[in-house]
Amino acid sequence: MLELLSAGHKVWRFEGGEPYMPTPEPIKQAMTAALARNETRYAPSSGVPELRRAILEKVRSKNGIPADDESPIVVNGGMNGLFCAFATLLDPGDDVLMFSPYWTPIADVLAYHGARPLLVGTDAARREGLTKALARAKTDRTKLLYWNSPVNPTGDVFTRAEVEEVAAFVREAGIAMISDEAYEDLIYEGEGHVSPASFPGMHERTISVFTLSKTYSMTGWRAGYVLVPKRWRLPMQTIVLYSINGVSTPTQWAMLEALRMPDGFLEEARAGYRRRRDALVGGLRSAGFEIDRPKAALYLFPKVPPQLGRESAAAARALLDTVRVATVPGLVFGPEGESHVRFSFSVPEDTISGGVEALKSLAAAAAR
Ligand code: PMP
Repeated sequence: MLELLSAGHKVWRFEGGEPYMPTPEPIKQAMTAALARNETRYAPSSGVPELRRAILEKVRSKNGIPADDESPIVVNGGMNGLFCAFATLLDPGDDVLMFSPYWTPIADVLAYHGARPLLVGTDAARREGLTKALARAKTDRTKLLYWNSPVNPTGDVFTRAEVEEVAAFVREAGIAMISDEAYEDLIYEGEGHVSPASFPGMHERTISVFTLSKTYSMTGWRAGYVLVPKRWRLPMQTIVLYSINGVSTPTQWAMLEALRMPDGFLEEARAGYRRRRDALVGGLRSAGFEIDRPKAALYLFPKVPPQLGRESAAAARALLDTVRVATVPGLVFGPEGESHVRFSFSVPEDTISGGVEALKSLAAAAAR
């Protein structure tokens, strides 16, 4: 794709994964104000106390997580929170249960820690029953279950009943959970977000990982937080201390302002995402893609149309070469992602209309 762009070709870019809008003004102004107040010194490594208190209020009231005063740790975005959480819990030789398709970097982070993913295909598990499928995949070396809902890349949301069932499995198996809730606020219909740590006995065995990247259009700020139960707090704080030693102080004041944004802001953002999702779903269907409308996140994950074959890497390559449409091949999200490609609908609306026209020309050529 980069060669095409540098040769001056127009590419319809759907391969990304970030909010289409800029960071809201009050958040940017909060950083400017923090700089003007000279909030430029070291902050406590686990975070500015005012921000940790605001996080606590948010997770208790909105997520229903019974977090104690010391559980929040401010981190450099979800990725850093996840890395530190895995580093806290994993030893070489451990196994990690996870549903597939999954967010690509997780498999690499496990490999870095010498751990092995135990993939459980989500669709097959739903047919079989989640508990049964998880029990069959589990080994004696299973240390934890990595959980992500809403799901990147499918835009799927696990139901409250499903979260409850998986939480019960984790509790009964006596393993830990890392819950990646990056898209908690980007749910467009149906049941709202459910945090696994809100169920009885779960906060104690769960590291919950949150980010401001998607909710507040802050991907470049590197702003997130984790909730760590008492038993893993010291090792996790130590890893944060000796790796990043805290998030930049002015950024933390901007994070505090983000958490104070009025609810109307999110409603408006969701309306914009919903409109883009519906436009791209309609457009892809008219161009011959088979697709269900996802409830959440930023992505569509359609099956590749038959004329492009079944291999997602070849299909993504063909879409780029023939109609200059950039997507992500589904195989990078695990074997269960094969035969799919991922489109982000969080793109400018003229990218949706232009990209769909290009895809239709592909369908028309195939029909001739
Ligand atoms: N989890 C999932 C499922 C994601 O898709 C992402 C971002 N693409 C993240 C975590 C991490 O986001 P960030 O590091 O920007 O907070």
